[in-house]
Parts: sequence; structure tokens; C-alpha cells
Amino acid sequence: MRILTPKLFHISTMGCQMNDYDSDFLSQTLIRLGLSPTGAPEDADLVLVNTCTVREKAEQKACSLLGRMSRLKKKKPELTLGVAGCLAQHKGKQLMGRFPEIDFVMGPRDMARLPEILDTVVSRRTRVVADRLDLLRPEAICRPGYFQGNITGQIAIMEGCNNFCSYCIVPFVRGRETSRSPGEIIQEAEYLVSEGVGEITLLGQNVNSYRWESGDIRTFTDLLKALNRLSGLLRLRFTTSHPKDLGKDLIQAFGELEHLCPHIHLPFQAGSNRVLHGMNRRYTREHYMALIHALRDVRPDMAVTSDVMVGFPGETEPDFLLTMDLIERVGFDNLYSFQYSDRKGAAAANMDDKIDDREKASRLARLQARQKQITLEKNNKLVGHTLEVLIEGESRRGDQLSGRTATNKVVNFKTSCYNKGSLIQVIIVRAAVNSLTGEVCVPEG
Ligand code: SF4
Repeated sequence: MRILTPKLFHISTMGCQMNDYDSDFLSQTLIRLGLSPTGAPEDADLVLVNTCTVREKAEQKACSLLGRMSRLKKKKPELTLGVAGCLAQHKGKQLMGRFPEIDFVMGPRDMARLPEILDTVVSRRTRVVADRLDLLRPEAICRPGYFQGNITGQIAIMEGCNNFCSYCIVPFVRGRETSRSPGEIIQEAEYLVSEGVGEITLLGQNVNSYRWESGDIRTFTDLLKALNRLSGLLRLRFTTSHPKDLGKDLIQAFGELEHLCPHIHLPFQAGSNRVLHGMNRRYTREHYMALIHALRDVRPDMAVTSDVMVGFPGETEPDFLLTMDLIERVGFDNLYSFQYSDRKGAAAANMDDKIDDREKASRLARLQARQKQITLEKNNKLVGHTLEVLIEGESRRGDQLSGRTATNKVVNFKTSCYNKGSLIQVIIVRAAVNSLTGEVCVPEG
């Protein structure tokens, strides 16, 4: 394979944690082929853009980056330019028409074919469209040393979604749900722990739907129980859960599994049952609230974060006020909030009664302003409390260390005695919306 001569690659990753995980897979594949990573696209012989298409903004961002990379290729024609991920799956052929500099597009399920695709592009000078959805999620490549120095790691336990929420494109670009075998997942977790990873996040569009047909581990809760026994693992997290599938066994697991962190990301999307019905979410606000109460009964310190959308077709002001009311009732630790945007192929794109852009922006601003206050109020309540923090590395400003609480809040603090990967006790002295400041409360030295 000609690509084996030493070359440099650069990967730009957009979107969700699943894309980060996929980019790690692609990097490990390329390193195995003899290429080396570079942080500078202008130095690279191969540039890969791993894209997202979940919202219109993400698509615009990907196209603007592809415009820049196409200009780079015009100056450096020997550069190979590839597009991976959800936008490549959704609009690959269109992208190739718009950007003639693109050599290949590759959907999420076709990623294991990267060596073969590169060979075709480089040796035969042929453009490739790889957008099959019937393939299984590729097995992780566990490359010794790749994760060394990382304190947190991720494992995709499944791929795709069968839910068809009416606004969402994911089932069309990531395909139907397929779960990976428990043996493969446990092996990958053991590998990450052996590389020094202390905290693992299990990924899937809807982890509650994890299923395996044989053996002792058949459900998501079975899988959590097995991973909780892994020697050396300090913390276990997962994302994302669907409220309609969050069962009693998983809620119970929060009270039983010592390494499972008391934090759940549980998207509610809207507070009005009429809007939830239009979204095809298949739960009500009452059901959502009952889940929150059940989770807090088991773990009173449970942190809850969520996704919410404003301006779904037909959303009235009273509907929106029901969303605001639910935010008050739950008291989310944090919210990822968005304006609805049409995704071609998703059912809501054909719905009437679209909401005016200015109205959507105004609702989003009101919601975000209130949530900011709630997050700050919740964080302020932690001042004076001692919390366990897993040190992940230097803070953004670089003058302190930074880590997370079990509830997934960022804490910055000064210490000279502890290193990355240590679990330490920190007393919180100050709170802001996005992070907490603490002091290490165990006497040092
Ligand atoms: S559960 Fe709904 S929003 Fe989430 S990925 Fe599946 S279809 Fe999309």
C-alpha cells in the first residue's frame, strides 16, 4: 500500500463525544499504517474532517472548514482531503460536487474501510464515496501507548438509533441500533485502565437500548455491573439516556454501584406534552418528573443535565412556558439548549407552522438566562463543601490543576503534591457558572 511511506495526517473533529471517539479510531488506524499526527493542517499530507450534521449550524461550520481545506489543497495539490462522519453520510455526494478538492467521503459505519479507501484514492487517483449503513460498528483499535497520559476515556457500546424523533437525522446517518459484544467492550475497558485511564464514559445514542442476546451480560445495567468490578477503574459514566427507556434497574444501579457517578444526562427536549408528542418522544412531562424524583430518591446528590429545544414547529408561548416551568421544577445542573432547525429527511422538516427565527432566538435567550441563574445558584450551594475530585490535568489558564467532581463539575485548584489521575478531597471556596474553585483540604507534605 503506497500510503505506508512516512506521512503526516491531521484530523479536525466537530460535534459530539461519539465523533471524538471515532476520530481516535481513525488516528489509531492511520498510525498503524505508518502515518504520524500533526496539529497543523498545512503540514499534513492527509487532512480528514470528521463532521456533524445534527443541527444546521454544525453543517455550516463543517462547510466553512471544508472551504478552507479546499483552498489549502489548491495550493498543495498532493494533499489528500477526506470527509468523515454524519455530514459525509448525509450529503457526501453533494459535498463532492460543491468541493471538487475532496478525495473521499466516509460515513460513520464505513470507517473501518479507511485503509482500503486511502489505497484507492492514492494509488488509483479515484474519488470514493463510502456511505454504507449496513456495516457493524468497527472494533476499536487498541494501540499501545495511544491513550497514555489520558485520565478519561470513552467506549462506544452501540451505534445508531431506532427512535426516529421527528426533528432528528441520527437514525438516517448512523443507521439502526447495533450493540457491541460485552466481551469486546470489557476488553477495551481493561485496555484503557492498563493505559492509566481512571474514568470511562460509555457512549451510545440511546444506551438504555443496549442488548446482547447470549451470556450473563444482556442489558445495559448488566454491562455497568460487570464494568463496575473492573480492578483499577475509579469512575464510570454514560451518555445518552432516553427518558422513555430509563428503567428501574438502571435507577437502582445508581444506588448500588460504587464507581457509577451520580450524574445523568437525560434529554427532555420540551416541557409541553403536545410538543413532546409532535417530537415523537413517547413520554410525558409527568413521566420525566417521576424519573427525576426516583433518581433523587436513590441518590439525593444526583446531578442532572439535559438537552432542550425551543421553537419546534407549532410551539406556542404557553408551550414554551411549560418548558420554563419544567426547568424550574427539575433544577438542572446544566442545559444544552438549541433552536429548532429543519433537517432534511427528518419528519418535522415537513411540518407546518414553523416558528419565526426572531421568536426562536428570543425564547432561547430567555431560557438560557434563567438556566444560567439556576446553574450558579446550584454551584453556590457547594461553597464550603468538601468534594472528591479526579485530577485531569492543568486548568485552561494553565496556572492551576483541574479536575471533575463525581457530579461532573469542573474544579480548579492549586497543589504541588498531587498529580494527574489522583482522587483528592477539595473544599470549594468559590463558584461560577462554568466551574468551581477549590483548595486541597488534606494537609500536604
Ligand atoms: S433518541 Fe431521538 S434525538 Fe436521540 S438520536 Fe435517537 S432519534 Fe435522535
